[in-house]
Amino acid sequence: EAGRRDSKYAGPARTRDGRHIEVAANIRNAAEVKMALEHGAGGVGLFRTEFLFMNREEPPGEEEQLQAYKEVVAAFQGKPVVVRTLDVGGDKPLPYLNPGHEENPFLGLRGLRLCLARQELFKTQLKALLRAASYGNLKIMFPMVTTLEEIRQAKKIMAEARMELEANGLTVSHVETGIMIEVPAAALMADVLAREVDFFSIGTNDLAQYTLAVDRGNERVAGMYDACHPAVLRLIDVTVKAAHRYGKWVGLCGELGSEVDAAPLLVGLGLDEISMSPVFIPPMKEAVNKIAYHEARELVRRLLELPGPGEVRVALSK
Ligand code: PEP
Ligand code: MG
Repeated sequence: EAGRRDSKYAGPARTRDGRHIEVAANIRNAAEVKMALEHGAGGVGLFRTEFLFMNREEPPGEEEQLQAYKEVVAAFQGKPVVVRTLDVGGDKPLPYLNPGHEENPFLGLRGLRLCLARQELFKTQLKALLRAASYGNLKIMFPMVTTLEEIRQAKKIMAEARMELEANGLTVSHVETGIMIEVPAAALMADVLAREVDFFSIGTNDLAQYTLAVDRGNERVAGMYDACHPAVLRLIDVTVKAAHRYGKWVGLCGELGSEVDAAPLLVGLGLDEISMSPVFIPPMKEAVNKIAYHEARELVRRLLELPGPGEVRVALSK
């Protein structure tokens, strides 16, 4: 049964009117690769590398990281694997990186900000990633980007990492580099940021949290947290349009991408790729295959004018 279903969904997702949408997997480690491939993942849209850094006394070294990334990239045999650089801080503190007490950790030294403050740690990861890139189709993605300056700094450290590897006689291939769009400022400035990167991936979990000013993990305000809020959808819309204006592809890797009922919304927003928990890949492909892109675009035009997430969800259920 499972085998039959898996082979049926091994192909790409394509709307009735022929628009191709890459359906990819969110993974945390090499152990999840098998699951992703069995469910027909066209690649990895989000490899959350922070798990390699957790539950230990010190960060993994370059060789250990190389082995971990290489294993995943090789298993996908040329299919794209988007590896996100270390995204800790906020709700994911690491004892050995201890940035000290923060009143508002979600607004503090997290994601790329922490990496730019700990450049040796960052450069070690970038070296491992650049080396792993020669085993397949690896792409590097920076999390929690707020400003253009941060992207430039990150790319400068990546260039140093590359030069140091090449000085040691290694040949490093070109690696596509992108950013997560999960801070409202980045979404609003997407046309400026697009010129500096190869792709975007929208992190709806944090984008909803920061847009709505609702802690994504706080039960007391959970009723106000919904990535289908038109305010969030408008930011996604702005981001996709900006990316396409500059010829860059744009994916989405937040939990909204695992909502099969939201398929017409995701397709109609014009996303090129949707990355999700592997179990949702077969039903999402099935849903995409039933959609007409031109109809989904029309639907989204209407959804963007609705007053709240409740109305959006009602419209999606029809
Ligand atoms: C997101 O914020 O939507 C995202 C995919 O990243 P994470 O959930 O790891 O913060
Ligand atoms: Mg995030």
